[in-house]
Order: sequence, then C-alpha cells, then structure tokens
Amino acid sequence: MNIPAHPAIIRASVSVDGLLLSADAPLLALQREAGGDLGQVLAIPQLASIARLCRRLGVTVSRPVTAAADRGDIDMWVRAHPEKDGTMLSIVDWREHPSLVRTDEPRRAADLAALAEGWTWQIDMQLQFQLVLEGGGAHGAFPPDPPVPGHWFSAYFQLQPDEEGDMAMLRGLAQRRAFRGQRAALTADSARLFELSGFPLFDLAGQLTGYRGSAFPVERGVFAPAVEDAPALAIYPEEFGRRLDRSLRRPLGRIIANADTISAQLEGPLRPDYAGYAQDIASAGRHLMALIDDLADLQAIDRADFKVISEEVDLADLGRRAAGLLSVKALDKGMRIIAPHPDDSVMATGEFRRVLQILVNLIGNAVRYAPDGSEILVVTEHDGGGQAIIMVIDQGPGIAVAERERIFDKFERLGRDDSGGSGLGLYISRRLARAMKGDIRIGGGPGEGARFILALPAL
Ligand code: ADP
Repeated sequence: MNIPAHPAIIRASVSVDGLLLSADAPLLALQREAGGDLGQVLAIPQLASIARLCRRLGVTVSRPVTAAADRGDIDMWVRAHPEKDGTMLSIVDWREHPSLVRTDEPRRAADLAALAEGWTWQIDMQLQFQLVLEGGGAHGAFPPDPPVPGHWFSAYFQLQPDEEGDMAMLRGLAQRRAFRGQRAALTADSARLFELSGFPLFDLAGQLTGYRGSAFPVERGVFAPAVEDAPALAIYPEEFGRRLDRSLRRPLGRIIANADTISAQLEGPLRPDYAGYAQDIASAGRHLMALIDDLADLQAIDRADFKVISEEVDLADLGRRAAGLLSVKALDKGMRIIAPHPDDSVMATGEFRRVLQILVNLIGNAVRYAPDGSEILVVTEHDGGGQAIIMVIDQGPGIAVAERERIFDKFERLGRDDSGGSGLGLYISRRLARAMKGDIRIGGGPGEGARFILALPAL
C-alpha cells in the first residue's frame, strides 16, 4: 500500500447544519469514500458528532477518532473549534494502518484468508460476544471450545499485561480507540495464548456499539514468554491490580480531578453548559473507574483458588462504616441511611475489607435505585442457627420474586441501560460472601422495597 504524505494539519470547515464546506485532500477523499462530497452532509459519523458537540456547547472539543477507510483504519486526533458560521476541524496525527477485519463480506473473506492463522470476534458494549468467525488458517488456530454469541469476553479470555505493565485492550476501550498487541490466555486452558487486536464500532450517530477484532495464536516462547514466566493476571491478581493502577487508574484519576476543578469553577466562572460538560466528564470517569475496579475484582474472584482472609469482624461496626461512606451520596438525593445503633455489635468471621465492599455495594444500590427522600435501614441480628446477619432495607421498587436469583448473574441489570452501573456488583458481592462461607439472599414480600440479607458465620 502506497500511503501518500499528508500535511501536518488537515483542515475542514463544517456549516451550522452539518454540511462539509471545505476540506483538505485526505479528508475530502474520505468524505467521498463514505458517499458524500463537498456541500453535502459530513458523512464520517465520528467527525460529524464532534462537530455537532462543538456547535452545541460553543467550546473547542478535541478527541481521538478511528475512522474506517477502504484501504484500512485511520487513527487521528480531531480538534473542533466553533466559528461564527460553523465549525472548523483541525486534524493532526493522521495515521493509516491496514484494517484487520473489514465489514463487507468479500473483503472480510479475503482478509481472513490472508491472515490465515487468526480468527475474528466481535463484542458489544456489555463485553458479550456477538460474532465469532473461524479463519482459514492452519489446524489448531481456532480454539477447540470457541466462544458462542452471548458468552462473556472477560470469562473467556484472561488478559495479560505486556512487559511495560500496559494492557493495550483496556487502554483502547477507555479511549475508544483501536488496539493491538494485547496478549490473552484462554481461561479454560491457560497454555493457549492469543494476541488480540481490535477496533471500535460506531453506529451512524457516532455512538460506540462495540469492538471487532482478531485473535492470533501465539507460540509459547516465540511471541510471548512461556506461561510460567509471564506476569499473567491469572497467576498474580495483586500484580494485576498494581499494573492497572499505573496504566489506567492514575491517568483516569487525573482526568476526574481536572474535570472536577473545571466544573467547580475554581479557576474562574464558566459558561454553565461548559461547567456541566466537565461534570459529565468527571462522572463518566468515575463510572469508568468503578468498572475498572469491578473488572479487576472479577479477574481475581473468578479464579478457582480465590481466597479470603478469615478474621473477626463486627457486622454492626461495618454497617456503620459503609453507611458513613455513602452518607454524602444519600444526602444528594435527600435520603437518610439509618445505620446500626452505636452500641450494637454482631460478631462474625469474614474479611474486613471484603465485607465492607459488599455493604457499600448493597447500600450504594439502595441509594441508586430507591426514590429521592426515602430511607435506608441497615440492621443486624443473630439468626440463632450460627449465622450473623446484616440487612439493607430500602423503600424502592424492590426485586420481583422471579428475579431474585437472576439478579446475581454477571452483568445482569434487569433491563436497565442507564450508565450508572455494570451489573457486576451483586455477582461480585455474592461470590465474596460465599468465599467467606456465607451468602446473600433477598427477602421482603412482593411490593415491598428491596431487602438484601448478608449472612456470615457467627463468631
Ligand atoms: P448495577 O447496580 O451495577 O447494575 P448490581 O449487580 O449491583 O449491578 O445490580 C444488578 C441489578 O439489580 C441492578 O441493575 C438493578 O436493576 C437491580 N437492583 C440492585 N439493587 C437494587 C435495589 N436496592 N432496588 C432495586 N433494584 C436493585
């Protein structure tokens, strides 16, 4: 492929109603490839949505974009600047690379033949497989037990950090960009290693709908260190946490802190929609951070030999601490958390921080799903059968009896699609409770609020 040299900055202007008024040659070529032309609607969805956002907010917006072209994918950094009669787009860092998988059938077949060894996967935003295609390659490349649509990506693959401690796929997901060089072992057979690459899929409105990519078998000792030597997540969950910290949590923390500073207008007054936009960034960042925590937990607790510490814990004390941690969030919604009385004490065995994690999850859900102004009750008791119990009772819609088991499934959100959760909290909580020889049940009659009951061995 002969890639023509491009100017350092590629510019284009877009009218208030989204028409492409002028464009440097590479962008014009892309617009024509997408079926548009000068004077017509900007036909590259990601660019059109950035221009729209910039117009709506009246501020400069810049972000990375991966666009699909006939000859491959194009990574670029786009900056949209509001002008009096439209939007000016400046694109830097225009990088073309061959796409590993194409969307149209004949090309995809040709690609797969050329790629020989690899196979193709596609996942949706819930990280569930949507499509799995065997490549035309040598025997053995396709796993004997391939994922089927609906399977969880994270249950099928164990991602492994590279030598730098980076996880290309997580970074790609966080930035909505293409990634390559992500090593992963099959959960069912950790000796089978693959190298994953993928790129984001967007719908016509520019919304991210999932990822599609390839998996190439990696010979042990050739491409990657042997499994015994590899710093695999599967082997060192705490190492995974440390590496996540470096590659994702720290930069994300900085983004959240900066966005908070902007939205609090600490550096001076701002247009209200700009401050609101910063608030959106901060809350999306927090959501992403929670998701990273959940995924890190998932990697650890889904292992057969996951262990918890057994120590003496006071459920009433933990209930008070968890209520304290969530009191500000509750206050934002005019809610009150009634914690166990300071004199209450119910001793159990479990791991202090894991019990706290469960209670924060249960009370956090009550704050999220019960109505503004309602009350949340946290109570402890002994059940007489050797179990110590702590309950979180809210005044929300409750959980229908038929859904009381399903709700503990991985990624189950009972049809909710707001961006506030991942559907992992209860799955993780129950796994933790069971690892501590306890359990979580749901009580309460139909039509009542939710009543989550955590039981642990009494001391
Ligand atoms: P998330 O809250 O991230 O969606 P969870 O696993 O914690 O994931 O909860 C799964 C689903 O259970 C939620 O999406 C919600 O539909 C339902 N749920 C959990 N707690 C409550 C509650 N206190 N009241 C009503 N519904 C709840």
